[in-house]
Amino acid sequence: MPANEIVGLDPGEMFVHRNVANLAPSQDANYLSVLQFAIDVLKVKHVLVVGHYGCGGIAAAVDGARRGLVDHWLHPIREVAHERKDELAAYTHDRERLNRLCELNVIRQVRNVASDVFVQDAWARGQPLSVHGWVYSLSSGLITDLNVTMTGGLG
Ligand SMILES: [Zn+2]
Repeated sequence: MPANEIVGLDPGEMFVHRNVANLAPSQDANYLSVLQFAIDVLKVKHVLVVGHYGCGGIAAAVDGARRGLVDHWLHPIREVAHERKDELAAYTHDRERLNRLCELNVIRQVRNVASDVFVQDAWARGQPLSVHGWVYSLSSGLITDLNVTMTGGLG
């Protein structure tokens, strides 16, 4: 699904970075380069962390199977799942539990983006910038705003 179509923007109005399970790890030079370019050069006002329900990457993170390098990439999701295991255990259906994990992962990645030095520096110099967390449903075409928007320090 082209990202600009989800939000009704024309091609080129949105600078998009994609990876498996929409992660924003602070050691990933590719993600960090995209983030800095977007903030410092393009001067974007909104950073959107957008996950999607039914995400195969989220499911793969916690199904116990071994896939190789991607298991390392998906490690942050297992950390979130571990930290929130009581909440997640309350879901009786796997699909609902995994969809909640999709949301929890987006919320964590919003925090990662917001705590990044490029974002912190932009806020320190008064540059308008918000970081939002959304989850997209491929089946309904609808976006869920998780209401975790950050517009200033971590508070
Ligand atoms: Zn996915």
